[in-house]
Amino acid sequence: MISTKDAISLEEKYGAHNYHPLPVVLSRGEGVYVWDPEGNRYFDFLSAYSAVNQGHCHPHIIGSLEKQARTLTLTSRAFYNNVLGEFEQKLSSMFGFDRVLPMNTGAEGVETAIKICRKWAYEKKGIHENEAKIIVCTNNFHGRTTTIISFSNDADASKNFGPYTPGFIKVEYNNIEQLDLALQDESVAGFLVEPIQGEAGVMVPDSDYLRKAKELCKKHNALFIADEIQTGIARTGSLLAVCGNCSCEKACERQPESYVKPDLLILGKALSGGVYPVSAVLADNDVMNVIKPGQHGSTYGGNPLGARVAIAALEVVEDEKLAQNARKLGKIFREEMEKLIAETNLITLVRGKGLLNAIEINDTPESDTAWNICMKLKENGLLAKPTHGNIIRFAPPLVMTEEQLMECVAIIRKTVLEFEGA
Ligand SMILES: *Cc1c(COP(=O)(O)O)cnc(C)c1O
Repeated sequence: MISTKDAISLEEKYGAHNYHPLPVVLSRGEGVYVWDPEGNRYFDFLSAYSAVNQGHCHPHIIGSLEKQARTLTLTSRAFYNNVLGEFEQKLSSMFGFDRVLPMNTGAEGVETAIKICRKWAYEKKGIHENEAKIIVCTNNFHGRTTTIISFSNDADASKNFGPYTPGFIKVEYNNIEQLDLALQDESVAGFLVEPIQGEAGVMVPDSDYLRKAKELCKKHNALFIADEIQTGIARTGSLLAVCGNCSCEKACERQPESYVKPDLLILGKALSGGVYPVSAVLADNDVMNVIKPGQHGSTYGGNPLGARVAIAALEVVEDEKLAQNARKLGKIFREEMEKLIAETNLITLVRGKGLLNAIEINDTPESDTAWNICMKLKENGLLAKPTHGNIIRFAPPLVMTEEQLMECVAIIRKTVLEFEGA
């Protein structure tokens, strides 16, 4: 097998340098573990940005993939296929929406939601043509298309990619007054928000922020659009982050009062358990029905292979009670990090929900301390990646056991204390 060194030099030589990976090559994965070509084993604490919630190469998902791959993979939507309907029914019933529009990547899901929202604004709300605006938040991350980076305030993501798509207003995340003010504008069609901002450093808003935001949207007849691509599918200890305090395996089943139902829900990443790109936008009839034949789609969107994989990925979430496990282990993880914070000056705080957590490193955002800690974590058998300078995100697969989690806590503790002593 190719060595770590050779694999890295091939990517460096032939690939576009659009990423800055940690220098580790992964050649195999199983559950919470990944291995490099030399046979070193690591705990995966990134889970492909929460795409691998179900763990690497989950046998139920891979089994479904293999079987479907031998049967039928792609038909295009010029014809019906015998899996898509089943997938749409499963998603609709699990998340409590009338309809599903399937796509492939997360960014396509966001683009789809933006298009549906604009069309709804002209045809249902009566906004003048080409005047619809969508409110977004500062420090958002919604993907990499030209329209989406038009409303990013990350210079790396947007600089020299203009001219930018108009029609977006930015308000501060977790600031309900600013949102209220922005919603006074009658040409506002919707509010697009991450229930927890993952890329920005696992920013958890005030506990009543989403509920108030939804109420304001309703009052001003604007669509509340939740991007749950990273936070959804059990990551934060409930099926969706907008499920609030409920950890059952269906949205809105047990505690409807804590559930902030979006008008448009965007899913991706773990929707297919890290096996095949599948994203989807969910909405009820009054919103989704503005889309008519020919007005939106994708060749691979809703293909039988992706649909089969996604059904299996959702079954794993239910069967293995991943939301409950994420909730339980997340609590333990944050408690253990609090203990470590009491022992060290290197970490200033831990925050997060379920198994989407981050620690802040006691150094400037420009420093390479978080990167160096991640390098040491790698040497000690745990993979994590810094986000926004001095923040390290910790998001292991949700199939982790408590025993494995405690092993990981010991690795993090040892690494941090060693680093501080060095
Ligand atoms: C990853 C992510 C996206 C983009 O998904 P891609 O599959 O990379 O296009 C959009 N929104 C959020 C919140 C994400 O975490």
